[in-house]
Amino acid sequence: MPDFVDAQLLGKARDLDAQDPLARFRDRFQMREGLIYLDGNSLGCMPKATPDRMADTLSREWGEGLITSWLDADWANAPQRVGDKIAQLIGALPGEVIAADSTSVNIFKALTGALSLRPERSTILTETTNFPTDSYMMQGIEQFSGGRIQARAVAPNDVLDAVDETTAAVLLTHVHYKSAKARDLAETTRRIQASGALVIWDLSHSTGAVDIDLGAANADFAVGCGYKFLNGGPGAPAFIYVARRNQSASPVLSGWFGHANPFAFEEGYRPAEGVDRFLCGTPYVLGLAALEVGVDMMLEAEMRAVRAKSIALGQLLIEAMEPLCAEHGFVLASPADPNHRGSHVGYAHENAYAMVQALRDEEDVIADFRTPDIIRFGLTPLTLRHADIVEAVRRLQSVCASKSWDKPAYRTLSAVT
Ligand SMILES: *Cc1c(COP(=O)(O)O)cnc(C)c1O
Repeated sequence: MPDFVDAQLLGKARDLDAQDPLARFRDRFQMREGLIYLDGNSLGCMPKATPDRMADTLSREWGEGLITSWLDADWANAPQRVGDKIAQLIGALPGEVIAADSTSVNIFKALTGALSLRPERSTILTETTNFPTDSYMMQGIEQFSGGRIQARAVAPNDVLDAVDETTAAVLLTHVHYKSAKARDLAETTRRIQASGALVIWDLSHSTGAVDIDLGAANADFAVGCGYKFLNGGPGAPAFIYVARRNQSASPVLSGWFGHANPFAFEEGYRPAEGVDRFLCGTPYVLGLAALEVGVDMMLEAEMRAVRAKSIALGQLLIEAMEPLCAEHGFVLASPADPNHRGSHVGYAHENAYAMVQALRDEEDVIADFRTPDIIRFGLTPLTLRHADIVEAVRRLQSVCASKSWDKPAYRTLSAVT
């Protein structure tokens, strides 16, 4: 990349950083000097406040309070308390969201809940290329139903046309995990509901990244991750949103925490009123404590500002990558129009996997690889400076120019990518 482009872009990036209303958040995360972390869409960074919060939950609440902390430290209500905070990030009402379980388990609860509201319908539908766990959960439900329920996956562009009077629910991801392509939440919801089906939105790559309004979109169900853009930590609890009108649904996982009166220890299952029936077992208290720190920070930042910065970072990255596309064969694999894109940008390249390894080992840039040939750059507005984007592209340019990616060690696929 000619130096003048570099200098010009870097100047522009520094100007953007100087005016950035979210700049103050970066310091509130632990960040190793020199590292450029472009993978906060897979595992968010750690807020500096999290270890203290965890230490307090462990030493004071657990160590000293012991079982009295279920009430005294509000452990019993943590899924609802954190859920109500997440609700504010996604345009939901209090009492429509709980933080619990993994996204996969919440997908199961949303699907079975939707099926219980459409007992006369037998198909659950998703798109091909969706994040695999979404399809896997559907396949498990089909198998368990012994033939009553059919799970179907249709190509992304055709999936809405495949909704018909047999469709109970359509499970779609709002921001695609590979391409970052974002669906129109309200319009897609409207089209699905026009056929009498219910919509389930997977917001794993949207929550904490895109300002969404589930209420305005009239969404039926939604699920999403705690450990990605919400910075809740590895294995953080996920969340599930159930629109008020759908809270009479039966989510099948009839665990005691979803019972109307768990501590009555009744023989028979009676579901709790409201979204509480979508709880299953004992809340993940430690995970919820860490998640709450991340969610609080996102609330403080405000989603509108987060989204605006995410778009600015994405446009800057695309601009900076243009010379590498021309010289080194990268192909933009995400929408160029930010209105149709979430908060990461993918590029296709035949040596994507080796380049991601070289970037990490030699240039201290962490991005990620998604099969078969995509480099993903995750854009997390609370932790990234605009100048980091330009610098990351400069380091990628250096990997390309020196061909330092071209080593046997960088071609061997590891178990976790
Ligand atoms: C990350 C992600 C998940 C993860 O599910 P877990 O059960 O938390 O592992 C699910 N769906 C999508 C679209 C994702 O991007």
